[in-house]
Amino acid sequence: MNDVGKIVIIGAGPTGIGAAYRLKKLGYTNFQVLEASEQAGGLASSYQDEKGFTWDVGGHVQFSHYDYFDRAMKEALGEDGWLHHERESWVWIADRFVPYPFQNNLRYLPREMIAKALRGLAERPPRTPSPNQDFGSWIDQTFGRGLREIFMEPYNFKVWAYPPERMWAGWVGERVAVVDIGRVSENIILEKDDVSWGPNNTFQFPRYGGTGAVWRALASQIGAQHFRYNTRVQAIDHAAKRIRTEEGEQIAYDRLLSTVPLDVLGRMLHPCVDEVMEPASKLLYSHSHIIGVGLTGEMPAKLQKKCWMYFPESNCPFYRVTVFSHYSPNNVPEPETGKFWSLMTETSESGVKPVNRETVVEETIQGLLNTGLIHSRDQVYHTWYYVAEHGYPTPSLERNELLRKIEPALKKIGIASRGRFGAWRYEVSNQDHSFMQGVEWVNWTLLDVPELTVRFAETANANWGKWA
Ligand SMILES: Cc1cc2nc3c(=O)[nH]c(=O)nc-3n(C[C@H](O)[C@H](O)[C@H](O)COP(=O)(O)OP(=O)(O)OC[C@H]3O[C@@H](n4cnc5c(N)ncnc54)[C@H](O)[C@@H]3O)c2cc1C
Repeated sequence: MNDVGKIVIIGAGPTGIGAAYRLKKLGYTNFQVLEASEQAGGLASSYQDEKGFTWDVGGHVQFSHYDYFDRAMKEALGEDGWLHHERESWVWIADRFVPYPFQNNLRYLPREMIAKALRGLAERPPRTPSPNQDFGSWIDQTFGRGLREIFMEPYNFKVWAYPPERMWAGWVGERVAVVDIGRVSENIILEKDDVSWGPNNTFQFPRYGGTGAVWRALASQIGAQHFRYNTRVQAIDHAAKRIRTEEGEQIAYDRLLSTVPLDVLGRMLHPCVDEVMEPASKLLYSHSHIIGVGLTGEMPAKLQKKCWMYFPESNCPFYRVTVFSHYSPNNVPEPETGKFWSLMTETSESGVKPVNRETVVEETIQGLLNTGLIHSRDQVYHTWYYVAEHGYPTPSLERNELLRKIEPALKKIGIASRGRFGAWRYEVSNQDHSFMQGVEWVNWTLLDVPELTVRFAETANANWGKWA
């Protein structure tokens, strides 16, 4: 194992924890994690509000591509610490629920919509895939104009907050189920459901404390001596290998792993590095507005088994709602009484899709009424509002070219940047990917084992890490 001196990690989100976890496993003790907030978890943190409701920063579902990650999750909370659920997801459209994947369950739609979707599928333009294809033309070629207009365009604009023509299609990979016209037609004619859930499609969620419980547990198992909370890094003097915190403290390092967003990192560098700052400032991203709605009374029967729902229409600001009390009964106060339940909504914002922060909570409640998820304002017991300023790293058309400039410039000054916004690769930015980016960076630094996830996203997503 290489002795590289003192390792400093900026950020105690899943990426920083992944690195710290691996260092601890290897018996390497000369490291320190600096975290701006008061707890571990980053975007995968959870919060308990003053009324006793627990919230994530948007519905977090664990989907793992790595055995190593699975083992760490077991270690974090033990077998008993997890609850297991079937992944039931639905689309709310034309005043009805359609099971996901939407395109395989068109029979639920009004007849004119079915006809429009089928016509579009039949008239799809020829596929001319190119490595730099934009997401808009990918949608046309894959789904046709009908499904684009009915679902793909409005829904994706609500999620990403950018038009699909500004996005690169390469992020899609395994994430969007593509269309088999034979199967689609058969399901309509034979009135067959074609849903993505079933006995083999389950997910796990912490019994107590929300998703953040995982990351708090791992941080405490790694050892409190390695973590400094409420410590915001303000500047990095890469020539002197010294960090300055907001409090003015100077911290020396030999190796540095940053997990903060690349645009923020670019502004922290002293002396200034234009080759990082200038391209990083052009990377697109969106803000995520998370509104938790604590509700009283009985949950309507139609929501009892649902995990999350997608909302493509303009009658509500959110694109997704999670039935968060379903993930764990302990996500609401007084679980034994059954008095409360909760919905968590996600709304995106960007320069081309503004959100009024003064009114978005009220618009959300109106949206819940418009979509029939609640029937009266009297059901609303409490609301919780959180904004993740960096929510989604947009896979914009120019992203790869910008990253090709930033990465060698950072390497030259001896800084590694990994994670959801540290690597800015949406396709490998979930909790499992982020954690493994931290693990793999340590393997590279100390053991000379090349990194997989950040370099070869498609291979990582092909479950390479499940073969071990
Ligand atoms: C709305 C939403 C829904 C999501 N749903 C899912 C899901 O269903 N499943 C899933 O697996 N993942 C999901 N994710 C992604 C998941 O949250 C990320 O994969 C994960 O949190 C990324 O970890 P990270 O460590 O790379 O970054 P972060 O979690 O962003 O952590 C970075 C850390 O750095 C700290 N930091 C920043 N600046 C400084 C500074 N100057 N000094 C010190 N510390 C600093 C931050 O406080 C933070 O703790 C979702 C994310 C969002 C926003």
